[in-house]
Amino acid sequence: MKTALICGISGQDGAYLAELLLKKGYSVCGTSRDAQMSSFQNLSRLGIREQVKLESMILTDFRSVLQVLTKVKPDEIYNLAAQSSVGLSFNQPVETLESIATGTLNLLEAIRFTGADIKLYNAGSSECFGNTGELAADENTPFRPRSPYAVAKSAAFWEVANYREAYGLFACSGILFNHESPLRPERFVTQKIITTACRIAQGSAEKLYLGEISVRRDWGWAPEYVEAMYKMLQHDEPDDYVIATGKTSALQDFVAEAFTCVGLNWEDYVETDQTLYRPTDIAVGRANPAKAQEKLGWQAQYKLPDVVRMMVEARQKGF
Ligand code: NDP
Repeated sequence: MKTALICGISGQDGAYLAELLLKKGYSVCGTSRDAQMSSFQNLSRLGIREQVKLESMILTDFRSVLQVLTKVKPDEIYNLAAQSSVGLSFNQPVETLESIATGTLNLLEAIRFTGADIKLYNAGSSECFGNTGELAADENTPFRPRSPYAVAKSAAFWEVANYREAYGLFACSGILFNHESPLRPERFVTQKIITTACRIAQGSAEKLYLGEISVRRDWGWAPEYVEAMYKMLQHDEPDDYVIATGKTSALQDFVAEAFTCVGLNWEDYVETDQTLYRPTDIAVGRANPAKAQEKLGWQAQYKLPDVVRMMVEARQKGF
């Protein structure tokens, strides 16, 4: 039986990945910064809370990382722990940089230090590309980060690439474009849109306040994105992959789709709030996930309308 260590198991991707690896027969251990205090609500929602072992680990504290690695002895590590909000990164740049760049470096060093045969998946981000314009970004597209979060993710990406080349570690980065699910917290705009649209449909008199809705992104379905993470570590060679649907839409399309799903016209309920604009934003994020399809046999099945519908349905069922 293989053992997987999921750093950041309490988050959206951590919970879905744990569910996937349990189905595949793995022994799954997950970490939180404070496993005694965390509610692990997402694991409970998926009904797998009792099937995973949990440890406290702070990625920025090398001793804590080393201790957990030595105790758990994982075959595979999935590094998903991070201050993961682009918006929040403008207000917490140091925490963002340290949790992502120092955290990833500590993991790489701990693997090297123990000398154990451990494969590492690192959660990279499409935010590293910045504005892609009409040219779809692939694994060779240069990074032009436009937020403290993206700067940190770019640093972590190159750390992983460097340790792979310099020390022969089996380490991969998935450059994932946005992926959503009912487990997305409400501070992310997509879940905010879904929950507000559902409340309005149930009679709430509120408006939905949003920042720039012309921004274009590639939105996918989180439960199938974690399959790509798993596949990267099963491949013969460690490598980096863009993971996306390959279809770009405006945030306005997401909003319109959500309101249509609950039988309303979005233009009657959405107001612009200038305070929600970011100091620097990405106008267009466009992806070319061809390498993942060719080398991993991975392809997104769900596109934006499916993602919105499944999030609305989950909300209506009280999931
Ligand atoms: P979440 O925010 O849902 O989960 C991340 C986990 O990291 C949290 O549950 C938390 O665990 C831990 N964490 C939060 N803040 C910090 C911090 N300051 N320092 C250390 N750990 C922290 O993220 P997702 O599951 O959505 O994403 C997983 C990874 O993938 C993240 O690294 C994210 O940046 C990246 N990513 C996500 C994308 C998406 O669209 N979802 C797109 C591209 C990349 P705890 O509180 O228990 O310690």
